[in-house]
Amino acid sequence: METKAYANHAADKPFVPYSFKRRELGPDDVGIKIQFCGICHSDIHTARSEWGPTPYPCVPGHEIVGVVDAVGSNVDKFKTGQKVGVGCLVGSCGSCPSCEDGLENYCDKGFVGTYGAPEGDGDYTKGGYSDYIVTAQHFVLSIPDNLDLAAAAPLLCAGITTYSPFKHVGLKKGDKLGILGLGGLGHMGVKLGASFGADVTVISRSIHKKPDAESLGAHNFILSSNEDEVARHAETFDYILDTVSAPHDLAQAMGMLKREGTLIMVGASERPLDLSVFPLIMRRRKILGSLIGGISETQEMLDHCGKHNITSNIELIEPTKINEAYERTINSDVKYRFVIDCKKF
Ligand code: NAP
Ligand code: ZN
Repeated sequence: METKAYANHAADKPFVPYSFKRRELGPDDVGIKIQFCGICHSDIHTARSEWGPTPYPCVPGHEIVGVVDAVGSNVDKFKTGQKVGVGCLVGSCGSCPSCEDGLENYCDKGFVGTYGAPEGDGDYTKGGYSDYIVTAQHFVLSIPDNLDLAAAAPLLCAGITTYSPFKHVGLKKGDKLGILGLGGLGHMGVKLGASFGADVTVISRSIHKKPDAESLGAHNFILSSNEDEVARHAETFDYILDTVSAPHDLAQAMGMLKREGTLIMVGASERPLDLSVFPLIMRRRKILGSLIGGISETQEMLDHCGKHNITSNIELIEPTKINEAYERTINSDVKYRFVIDCKKF
């Protein structure tokens, strides 16, 4: 299947139109006409080789939504015309203890990422900055009908990445939850945290985001550069979700956690972070890492969003604006996720 896309050809090169062939539809595959794809900061880290060398041409995109166009002979979960999504995973070994636990994201042999993962014959997977994808049915998700399709796209990464650790720690009504960094992940953390009944506070460098934090469902806002405000919130949070995409000092967030509170790390800075151990050991605090979520949990998150009518706040762009959107995301100038209109490729 000839597929139109946008790719960059080196870490310092912009995105340009590109075309390639998707694999033939196999018996377990679903062929999807992509309608929309979100721009995650992980796309930027990867396209710019910030996490290590990326194979080029690079077609990122793992917040994919579209409509089923074709199904293989073994496919029983999906029908043509159905609204579906593909997130960060398109394969895993299926037989290791993690896969058997439904945690394909932690596959012991390494999951197959939607883009940049080796795929037969020296080729690499290509993601959703394109107009078509062929994906094994196990990794295809069903999108609730009541959700706006473009605004649902970011649920496939930003949504599940924040939902999964909340479920893992057992976030519940009345828990004090801080969200560090109000970007794509952060704003989903606010909405989902509030839907669990948590008391949500945004901790941000950007004072202009304060009114938005409240309208997204946060109960409180802390400007991280205001030392008095930070000091007033010492030892107040049960959990802080750290979504920051760049190097930063962990001491400030650590100091705002209660005794035995947990700092949940989802932001993936390309460089190691400074950690002073005393705030950790003196108050028996914890640090927890979390990577997206498994397939069944992703479906559970989508159904939860359908039930609570939760989607992302998006800025819909044409493919020609991808380079500009990258610069604006890096400058924290997006409300709160760019989504590409893939019908315009
Ligand atoms: P994003 O939209 O760019 O948001 C990141 C936010 O971090 C910004 O809005 C900003 O918030 C804050 N920030 C940025 N630079 C900062 C700095 N130098 N110091 C302090 N704060 C800073 O990015 P995203 O798409 O939400 O992704 C966030 C991170 O999570 C990325 O590293 C991404 O790769 C990673 N990620 C991880 C997973 C996972 O499975 N663990 C999944 C998806 C993404 P304020 O302006 O409010 O301060
Ligand atoms: Zn992502």
